Amino acid sequence: MTPELMKLENISFAYETSPVLENLSVAIQEQDFIGLIGPNGSGKSTLLKIMGGILESDSGSIQFKESPISKINKKLFAQSVSWIPQDHPMVFPFKVSEIVLMGRHPYLSPLSFESSEDFEISRRAMETTMTSQFADRYFNEISGGEKQRVMIASALAQNPEMMLLDEPTAALDLKYQVQILKILKDLNTAHKMTLILAMHDLNLASKFCNRLILLDAGKIVRDGSPQQVLEKDILEQVYDVEVDLDYKDGSIRVHPAIRN
Ligand code: ADP
Ligand code: MG
Repeated sequence: MTPELMKLENISFAYETSPVLENLSVAIQEQDFIGLIGPNGSGKSTLLKIMGGILESDSGSIQFKESPISKINKKLFAQSVSWIPQDHPMVFPFKVSEIVLMGRHPYLSPLSFESSEDFEISRRAMETTMTSQFADRYFNEISGGEKQRVMIASALAQNPEMMLLDEPTAALDLKYQVQILKILKDLNTAHKMTLILAMHDLNLASKFCNRLILLDAGKIVRDGSPQQVLEKDILEQVYDVEVDLDYKDGSIRVHPAIRN
């Protein structure tokens, strides 16, 4: 049994008054590669923000490595868990290398400058994510797939144990979707990185993730291997559409049933 990295117990959360997550409990194991799936508005982004310490739950508890996160030093938590939002508005013109170096911020003391080690770690993060070639370009001037890789590089420079990514492949064409997922898969296997990705593409999720968590209206309705989660009945109920499933090369494919 791999050790638990993060444990959420009875988490509830509401924006103002409308409840979004209700009594949700889940344990994340080290080196999990989790696809967080579910329809629009089911609470995926909210859950990632709570796990990343961006939002605080109204009730319930979260433990990271068996310590309540409320008791963990904020800087230490920021070093350990990195959250990559779905869109990254960058109004101020930063160069790619500067954005990656910003990932080192949780390690710097106030007013201190980056050390040669910080530069070296950033360089390696760019190498891993294949972003070195546009280090000197402006973030605003690169493509969507490149931007996403830069955001992953910046998160990686943080040297986290866990990365939370909100729809990292949304808005990318197929080639870049697969490229991003391969980079993440490699981090997961070679670097033992624990990953949670909010995703819409059930087929890519089933191919790359070892575990899927299916959310419906703020509740976890299935949690397990792709085989356990991607079942016709539950998918039709949660997504409110007829689906056909087929199996190829050990992975499941889900198609909306289009009948004339
Ligand atoms: P998902 O990522 O699965 O699409 P979200 O976590 O973004 O779901 O949203 C869950 C619910 O919370 C939705 O009903 C959404 O409208 C609502 N919601 C999300 N963000 C906010 C916000 N900042 N203020 C108020 N309601 C929000
Ligand atoms: Mg979302």
